[in-house]
Formats: sequence, structure tokens, C-alpha cells
Amino acid sequence: MALLSMNQLAGHLNTDIPSRKCSLGVFSSDHVLHCKPFHVRALQGPLRSLLNATTHTPLSVRADTPSVAVSNEVRSSLDIDWDNLGFGYHKTDFMYVSKCGSDGKWDEGELQPFGALQLSPSAGILNYGQGIFEGMKAYRTEDDRILLFRPEENALRMISGADRLCMPTVPVNMFIQAVKQTVLSNERWIPPSGKGSLYIRPLLIGSGAVLGLAPAPEYTFVIFVAPVGNYFKEGLAPIHLKVENTYHRAAPGGTGGVKTVGNYASVLKTQLSAKKSGFSDVLYLDAVESKYLEEVSSCNIFLVKGKKIATPHLKGTILPGITRKSIIELAQTLGYEVEERAVCVDELRDADEVFCTGTAVVISPVGSIMLHEDRLEYANEGLGKVSKELYSALTSIQMGQSADIMKWTVEI
Ligand SMILES: *Cc1c(COP(=O)(O)O)cnc(C)c1O
Repeated sequence: MALLSMNQLAGHLNTDIPSRKCSLGVFSSDHVLHCKPFHVRALQGPLRSLLNATTHTPLSVRADTPSVAVSNEVRSSLDIDWDNLGFGYHKTDFMYVSKCGSDGKWDEGELQPFGALQLSPSAGILNYGQGIFEGMKAYRTEDDRILLFRPEENALRMISGADRLCMPTVPVNMFIQAVKQTVLSNERWIPPSGKGSLYIRPLLIGSGAVLGLAPAPEYTFVIFVAPVGNYFKEGLAPIHLKVENTYHRAAPGGTGGVKTVGNYASVLKTQLSAKKSGFSDVLYLDAVESKYLEEVSSCNIFLVKGKKIATPHLKGTILPGITRKSIIELAQTLGYEVEERAVCVDELRDADEVFCTGTAVVISPVGSIMLHEDRLEYANEGLGKVSKELYSALTSIQMGQSADIMKWTVEI
């Protein structure tokens, strides 16, 4: 199996690997490493010697198969039911790994076969939760292009999370290039257009060993991917929430505003018990007065009243969602008045529509919310006009079905 740094390869080929047009058709005897066409003729000499020098398995380079044919053929050989993708874990071919020591410098980074990471039992992530993650998606368009959605926003958010948890930051450019490489190397796992997306999970963890409480001496930046369909089993059908009265997700001055791993372990208990009672998830209130809306376990919340849309403002306790930000901007261009402010829990009683936003859920209309003893229900069982309008405006940009007037998508 080849363990090839893409930067190494790019250097030899004198080209930019992450650009899709330049990716390679490289096959080993037992495994497809990449399956894209390339102008290989000019590169075969240096490429071949590089490949032979870095691998034990003889490799051959194939550049004659058109890209669409290759991906369709390879895709259909995967044992996967594209029509019934949920949001489950699925292993794919490759993951990206880069490490950073105490000098603060990241190594070149490389694609490795997807597999287990080796960690000391004393690693910072395992003992003190020094870790953050991101969530993004790559979509395949009808004309077989691959689109990312606002990847720079994820890179910037990871930088602020790293800063909050005293970890070295991954530069924006390195982050985006690494995401592109990981997606391309797993291209056969990107669902056909309209069937779902490739979920991308960048992870930054303290991998070095510590004993006393301190920042880890070494960090690992990993990206893995998985093909996904709907996050909630309901799909675009409305979800049912329960306002949480006992537990809080985040407190002022804490880490609610960054995607750090500990924020999610702590909501499992409430989420599980809500699911047991038939709800899809929990809606959290502020930790000071238990009076204002915060967000759901992993998505932001919006209330619609006439032409006005309100969402809790960012004050450090809720996650600054990129979908949230995008919906605010889209709604404004569609003529809605959007307010980011403290939203009182009682406003749930007279909202016309309520919906949640997040990369995983995109937009999930809310059908009902249990508030104390009251079951509040929303228009058309939650599938309201505004939620639907915003859903189709956003997803058609993400999937490349409408003109990208906001310049949000990045083609790989
Ligand atoms: C990731 C996340 C969101 C949504 O953020 P997006 O950038 O829209 O995916 C919202 N809330 C929480 C708690 C999250 O972890």
C-alpha cells in the first residue's frame, strides 16, 4: 500500500494536486488509490520513480479512463444502499493525517489508508479532552462536479477553537487543501447527485502524552469522511423537540461557542432520555436564568413570525453555525427581517414556524416542542412555507442546482 504525501507528489509533478483536474489514476495490484484522469504522459517518468521509491507494491499509472465512467463503475461496486443512507459511521478508503510537535510546525501531512490511530494512554485528548472537530459536506452535482460549502468558514472556526483549547492552529490554506485531498482520495464514496453527501470530519487533538494538567506536547490533525443521507431519520419531515429543564449545555465563560469534544459527551444523557420518550432531540435554555433559548444538541434554532425571523445571538454559549450564518444572509436577501437577539422561551408559543440549522441537518423543520406541560405545534405539522423556501434556496446552492449568487461553493 502506498503511503504517499500529496505535497510530495505535487512537488514532483510540479502541479497542484488538490485541483480535481490534476488528480491521478493510480492503481496498485489490490487497491484503487485514486481514480481520476490526469495528463499522465508528461508525468510518467518522475511519477513512476517516485511511486516505486515510496512503495513496496509495484504500481501502475492509468490515465486512459474518463473520470465519470470510472467513478460510476467503481461506485456501483461499493456495497452501499445509496437510496437509504442515514447518518451512520461508514469507513472509507483514506484519511488525512498531519502532526505538530512542540516547535508548533505542522509536518507535510499525508493521506493514509483509513484505520486506527495510535495514541499513548496518556494523550491529552484521552485524559483532558483537548480536542475540537469540524463538520462539512461535499456534494456531487448533476454534472459530476464536486462542491464544498464555505470551507474557509470551517477553517476559521477551527482556528478559534484551537486557540480556546491551547492547541496549535491549522492555517486556513493547509486546512482547505487537506479537506480537498481527503475528499478526492475518497471520491468513490461521494453519493450520486441528490442521494446525499460526503460528510467531512476534521479533528484536531492533543496526541502527545501528559500527566499533570497541561497542553499536550504534540497534536494530530486528522480528516476522515463518510457518505451520509439524512441526519434525523425524519429527513425533511418535522422533528419533535423537548425543552430541557434540568441540564444545560453551556455556561457563560465556558466552551459552548467552540466545537470541543466535551460539549457533546455531556449532552448524550439528555438526548438519549428525550429519544426514549419519542422526541428527536433537546432544546437547551440559557444557564443563568433558564429563560432564553440557546440551541439543540448539535444545531441552531430559528423562530419565524410573519416576515420576521429570530435566532439567539452569539454570546459565547452557542455554536456559531455556518448554516446559521448562511440562513441569516439568505433570508435577508429573500426579504425577511432577521433578528439576532435574546429569544425568550415563551416566544415559542406564538411562533408561526420553528426550524433548526446545521451542516448535518441542513434545515430541519420543527413539528412540535414540549415546553413544560404544553405541547406546542407548528403550522402544517412544521413543514412551513418559510422553512421550505429557505431549505430549497440553501440546498440548491450547496448541490449546485442554482446559480451560486452568494459565492459560497468551492469546486474541487
Ligand atoms: C456544529 C454545530 C452546529 C451547526 O454548525 P454548522 O456550522 O451550521 O454545521 C450548531 N450547534 C452545535 C452545538 C454544533 O456543534
